Amino acid sequence: MRIDVLTTFPEMFAAEPPAALGVSIPARARAAGIVEVVATDIRAYAENKHAKTDDRPFGGGPGMVMMCQPIWDAVRGVEASDPRPAHRVLLTPQGRPLTQAMVERLAGLPRLLVLAGHYEGIDERVIEALAPEEISIGDYVLSGGELAAMVLIDAVVRLLPGALGDQESALAESFSTVAGAGDSPHARLLDCPHFTRPRVWQGREAPEILVSGDHAKVARWRLEQRLARTRDRRPDLLPNDPQPDPQPDPQANPAEPACQPPGRVDSPGTGS
Ligand code: SAM
Repeated sequence: MRIDVLTTFPEMFAAEPPAALGVSIPARARAAGIVEVVATDIRAYAENKHAKTDDRPFGGGPGMVMMCQPIWDAVRGVEASDPRPAHRVLLTPQGRPLTQAMVERLAGLPRLLVLAGHYEGIDERVIEALAPEEISIGDYVLSGGELAAMVLIDAVVRLLPGALGDQESALAESFSTVAGAGDSPHARLLDCPHFTRPRVWQGREAPEILVSGDHAKVARWRLEQRLARTRDRRPDLLPNDPQPDPQPDPQANPAEPACQPPGRVDSPGTGS
């Protein structure tokens, strides 16, 4: 997969530590060629003398607005650099809140083009002309779209085949679908609690069942824990009506596969 990021801070997307996408799973996936992250400076496409990408807002008021021309030319230029069609994404607090279902859909695409805004935002006319999918990472305002882009990229990359050391860990994490759980045929459940050595820590014992060696019982216990946690902490994820997803993604393929609950005990230290 190729992910292009258009930003005025391309150095934030470096492939080396301490950049966020230069450590851990994203760095390993980049090094293994599973994903290519290409950050392009929008300034390089500004036609004006000082490579300005922003100007004062019409109508007055505080802050600056990102101009149409540099963004339009940057998108067109970057898209032309690779024959794979790019799915355009704009990070904005006014977009649809990001969910795991959306991440799963995006992870299935060959190429993403992620646009990070700054200042007061982007001139509305270029947003209309580009018609990107508008995505928010939550109901709060960040200074720029770069951190939001990293959140999106990290969530997508960990779903790419080969990105995780243990592929099963992605299937059993929070918000992964579980067939036949609760009232919903495809509930998205929170993860179960996890434990590792030592068996007893400060007088607190890890559950006996996890060291029983009985894989079927462990799988049942984990599923029960996932259901109980979801009921307790996120009852909104367990609708009474049999919807496939409590937050349906209109762009998603309706025939989304559901994963099975975990069926084995991992030895400590094998997760990713
Ligand atoms: N004036 C805009 C508004 O109130 O909707 C906020 C602009 S914000 C200061 C600057 C940039 O940060 C935005 O253009 C967007 O790219 C990014 N951003 C801020 N909050 C975000 C969020 N919750 N999700 C995604 N991107 C966000």
